[in-house]
Amino acid sequence: MEKIPINRLIDFSPVDGTGNRFAIFVQKCPFRCLYCHNPETINECSACGVCVEACPKGALKKESGAIIYDESKCVGCDTCLRVCPNLSSPKTRYMSVEEIESRITRVRPFIRGITVSGGECALYPSFLEELFIRVKRMGLTCLIDSNGAKPFKDLEYLVDLCDGVMLDVKAYDDDFHRKLTSKSNAVVIENLDYLLSKNKLEEVRTVILPKYDDQNRNTVDNVSRIIGNKSRYKLIRYRYYGVREEGLKEFGKVIVDESYAQALAELARKNGCVDVVIS
Ligand code: SF4
Ligand code: SF4
Repeated sequence: MEKIPINRLIDFSPVDGTGNRFAIFVQKCPFRCLYCHNPETINECSACGVCVEACPKGALKKESGAIIYDESKCVGCDTCLRVCPNLSSPKTRYMSVEEIESRITRVRPFIRGITVSGGECALYPSFLEELFIRVKRMGLTCLIDSNGAKPFKDLEYLVDLCDGVMLDVKAYDDDFHRKLTSKSNAVVIENLDYLLSKNKLEEVRTVILPKYDDQNRNTVDNVSRIIGNKSRYKLIRYRYYGVREEGLKEFGKVIVDESYAQALAELARKNGCVDVVIS
């Protein structure tokens, strides 16, 4: 039975797609975004033990080369995440589809569906397929929240099964995308076209950055022309909370102005995007 690393589960999330949703955050991501708000989801734990020493409550121990996390002792101070040199979390658990399904069953009457996020959830396609088949039987919808690093054209069964993909397009310019994420955006743009052709683009997201007006405009202009009125476009204002030192050095300890994001939303609307939202 396949088990995958799960960073955390949220029973009720109003921000991970339409309606109240059960959200699943998987561990591991091929990107290294400078402004990532969940950098502890990037790598799998190497069991180095640094966090074991740092935990003030003795909630962590190292046994037979693995980290054991005792949730009953944890006070959620996140010291372990701050000291981890590996962009990881000792609280990650390997879970099966059955285990997640039983958690969803408990909250089923109160949610519209589930959203699988990360990390990058498309790293685990067979797991998602099995999970979605079971969740669909419950009469719930299934959304994928993805950075677009994996080609969805190779995951057609999963795409057909899901109700939509919320896709990050972090930058339209490839060099700038590499600077932001460490990887090219070629597959991301290919995914944008593919998901549009499959009518599975639930939402596109771009983080609006401080200091990079040209890049913001270039991305919003090009993405909005591509998606037109076929998808929601969410412009997310950069906020410094949770951003690691590297990102703070690049973008500063600031929050992007709402009025600036509104001007970019207007540009998207002029290009035919009807559903543009700012968060
Ligand atoms: S959040 Fe991490 S450091 Fe804090 S008590 Fe829990 S396991 Fe320990
Ligand atoms: S979570 Fe980080 S600090 Fe803790 S054992 Fe794993 S890699 Fe080391």
